[in-house]
Amino acid sequence: MKGKRLLMIPGPIEFTDEVLGEMSKPTLSHVDPQFIEEFGQALERMRAVWLAPHGQPFAIAGSGTLAMEFAVANITEPDDNVLIVHTGYFSDRMAEIFRLHGANVDIVPGAVGDLPEVEAVRAQLEAKKYKTLSITHVDTSTGVRADVKHLAAAARETGTLTVVDGVCAVAGEELRMEEWGVDIALTASQKAVGVPPGLALLVANEKALDAFKARRTSVRAYYCDWQYWLPVMQAYEARKSAYFGTPAVNLVRALNVSLGQILTEGMDFRFRRHTLNARAFRAGLSAIGLKYVPVREDLYANTLTAAYYPEGVDAGVLPRIAEEGVVLAGGLYPSIKTKYFRIGHMGMSDTSEILATLGAIERGLAKSGYAFDAGAAVAAAQSLYKKS
Ligand SMILES: *Cc1c(COP(=O)(O)O)cnc(C)c1O
Repeated sequence: MKGKRLLMIPGPIEFTDEVLGEMSKPTLSHVDPQFIEEFGQALERMRAVWLAPHGQPFAIAGSGTLAMEFAVANITEPDDNVLIVHTGYFSDRMAEIFRLHGANVDIVPGAVGDLPEVEAVRAQLEAKKYKTLSITHVDTSTGVRADVKHLAAAARETGTLTVVDGVCAVAGEELRMEEWGVDIALTASQKAVGVPPGLALLVANEKALDAFKARRTSVRAYYCDWQYWLPVMQAYEARKSAYFGTPAVNLVRALNVSLGQILTEGMDFRFRRHTLNARAFRAGLSAIGLKYVPVREDLYANTLTAAYYPEGVDAGVLPRIAEEGVVLAGGLYPSIKTKYFRIGHMGMSDTSEILATLGAIERGLAKSGYAFDAGAAVAAAQSLYKKS
């Protein structure tokens, strides 16, 4: 990997040559017929990737945090009751955004590396009337994955909307938006969707749009207001132009290419590949004695791994691993920030990237003075791949 470092963080990720090539094309007018066609196609493809054949897709310039506010601002009115499934840093952020938009926020607590049981969430939904349940599909701060399917079912049974922050999940973790009754699922381009940072992506179903239409008060965020964006998205899908804010033309074109690649692979295959890569990666780290932030196996995310540094090693190992050609991320959750690191393995990540990453981690740990069986991590992953 001469001069090139593998970017294995939980976003931005490694992008395909086709996506990067698309980014480098001369920028078209946002009303150019070719761009209109490509934006329209990208919106149709979002529906297929989200597995939401009747959903309304939105793609606007911004990061994942804007996507979160884009959801919250449109379905929240002052004094709405909102329930948050606590998972970590990003569920805390969601709570803050809901509060800012006037909601009364209750949180079902979970310990670090854990999240509340579905039954505890269901009990709270039954005890009090909530307008919205907020779930972080994969909390990127802890590598904990929520059981969206059963949480969304509990919300549906109590007449509560479900919003899923899927920023580290959509197009990597299994999400069947329509089948599971998820009302809004959002993400950002730079994670498993596989496009450089800069697009906030969201799909809303009819129930979410109805909640928006039934508002008694105006949306408290000008740029986020669906009243302006809905006609724009509908126009592009009808292969017409419309304007509210200039679309991020190059990013939208790259999104269309990436979504095309995702659908060529197929969603079921893609979910399985993410699961296999994550298992192989963990088999590797476990073989050299590393432990994970999520407290139980059924909580392990497939898009990233959060692992504690082994005895005697600290964040100083990360630049050593980078010297070996692989860039990883440090901790994020405040109470354990200095004790763990995070590795993203989503998007087009393949066997060779997983093995290269494990190899670089081994070499970095060895340089940090950690004693282990050299080659054991790579061998364990290899053997898991061989069995699958
Ligand atoms: C990355 C991430 C975000 C924030 O996205 P930005 O693009 O950094 O604003 C929100 N939620 C989750 C789960 C994330 O992984």
